[in-house]
Amino acid sequence: MSVTGLPPYDPQNIFARILRGEIPCKRVHEDAFALAFHDINPLTPTHVLVIPKGAHVSAADFHANASAEDIAGFWRAVAQVAKSLGLEASGYRLLTNMGLDAGQEVPHFHVHVFGGKRLGRMVSAG
Ligand code: 5GP
Repeated sequence: MSVTGLPPYDPQNIFARILRGEIPCKRVHEDAFALAFHDINPLTPTHVLVIPKGAHVSAADFHANASAEDIAGFWRAVAQVAKSLGLEASGYRLLTNMGLDAGQEVPHFHVHVFGGKRLGRMVSAG
C-alpha cells in the first residue's frame, strides 16, 4: 500500500491506457495537463471525466506529489471543460472518489463533471 491507502500506480490501469491512446474515448478536451472524455456509463445527461497526464493513483497522491504547475493546470482544465460543455450558467458538480470507502474503481486520479439536470442531494448514505 502507498501512503494514500491504495496500491502503487499501475501503468496498465484503464485511464493510463486511454492516455496512451491504446483504448478509444470520446474526448472533449486535451492540453498539457489534462485529458477529458465522456464517461462510458453516464450517470447524468452530461458526465465527463477529467484526468491529469501524470501517473497519480488518487486525489491524495496527486495533491501530495504533483508539481504546483501540474495541479494548477489540471484544475484550470477542469473549469475550462465545464465551461466548454455549457454548464456554467446552469451549474454542475465536481466529484472525486478516493479509495475504498468512496468506491474508487479506476486507480488513476480523476474528477467527475456532472451536469445537465438538477442533481439533488450530494451524498447517498446507502
Ligand atoms: P470511480 O468510481 O473510479 O470514481 O469512477 C470510474 C469511472 O470510470 C466510472 O464512472 C466508469 O463508468 C468510468 N469508466 C470505467 N472504464 C471506462 C472506460 O473504459 N472508458 C470510459 N470513458 N469511462 C470508463
